Amino acid sequence: MGAGDLVIEGRALLGEELLVRDVAIVVERGIIRRIEDLSDRPAPWICPALFNAHTHIGDSVAMDLPFTADLTNLVTPPNGLKHRILAATPENELITAMRATIGAMQQYGTAGFADFREGGVAGVQALQRAADGYPCRPLILGRDGGELAGDGAGISSARDISSLDEVVSRVRNAGKMVAFHAGEKDPFDIDAALSYDPDLLIHCTHATGEHLNRCADEEIPIAVCVRSNWIFGVTGSAQNPPVREMLNRGCTFLIGTDNCMAVQPDLWREMSFLTTVYKIPPEQVLRAAVAGSRLLGKSFFIREGTPANFLVISPEDSNLWLSRDPIRTLTGRAGAHNILKKVINS
Ligand SMILES: [Zn+2]
Repeated sequence: MGAGDLVIEGRALLGEELLVRDVAIVVERGIIRRIEDLSDRPAPWICPALFNAHTHIGDSVAMDLPFTADLTNLVTPPNGLKHRILAATPENELITAMRATIGAMQQYGTAGFADFREGGVAGVQALQRAADGYPCRPLILGRDGGELAGDGAGISSARDISSLDEVVSRVRNAGKMVAFHAGEKDPFDIDAALSYDPDLLIHCTHATGEHLNRCADEEIPIAVCVRSNWIFGVTGSAQNPPVREMLNRGCTFLIGTDNCMAVQPDLWREMSFLTTVYKIPPEQVLRAAVAGSRLLGKSFFIREGTPANFLVISPEDSNLWLSRDPIRTLTGRAGAHNILKKVINS
């Protein structure tokens, strides 16, 4: 076998449907060449690699700073607390902090993430340098002139920027992505965001049924960040964000962890919160923690002919082998410590 060749046998979650099958997965030069049926291979479990659909890893430098301010005073540009801390952080410290957070995400089995990067062109370049050498790849959505240096625009809110028409047309002309925070604290910036035909909305914590119908009809994915919403006090119930409504209306929902200053970018914890508090079925939650890979123009779902991006999970190293339902167990109980091997070719 050459570099990137391997055969893994076990109980795999195949395709976007996450069909539980006992198989041998044959990987050659990083590509899944064949998936062959086997009988009775209860372990290990083979799960698609995760994609974190919304982060701000730059604010790792302000991790768990005791804060009492509201959302506006904390994270709204240009004068929120986090922007003042970012502006005062030397670039080498920022890069070191972002590298540490990418390393942590990789430990969690994350093979890619979509980051809203502050700080213009220099901010985008700092993340590119921080990610250098990691298989966990960033999709970088910049602002303040950094839009074209990365993969597109990550707009803090349609109400925060006066030159939005100009920014969006510049990004579109360059063939790059446009993403907005929308509906985080109230519904009033969602229509404006939708009017730009975005590639991705973040939050939609206070989206109405009409907003969700548009997202479904126009196939605009929504990255929800539920733990962040609770920590920042923009929700206190499982009605917001309306995740169940999103699913009922046919929206594509993705999962992100938002500001690293407040929330550890650990999608296992995020999945557990969604199944426990929002009562979202485990299959839907796991699918949402993988499907964001499409934002990178890839798919981490396990299929023949695609790059191999999956996690080999060892239920036998703990009590997880007792599980009667691997997907429920993965979303509710698993974590980085259960991952035996990460196969990442993102
Ligand atoms: Zn955000």
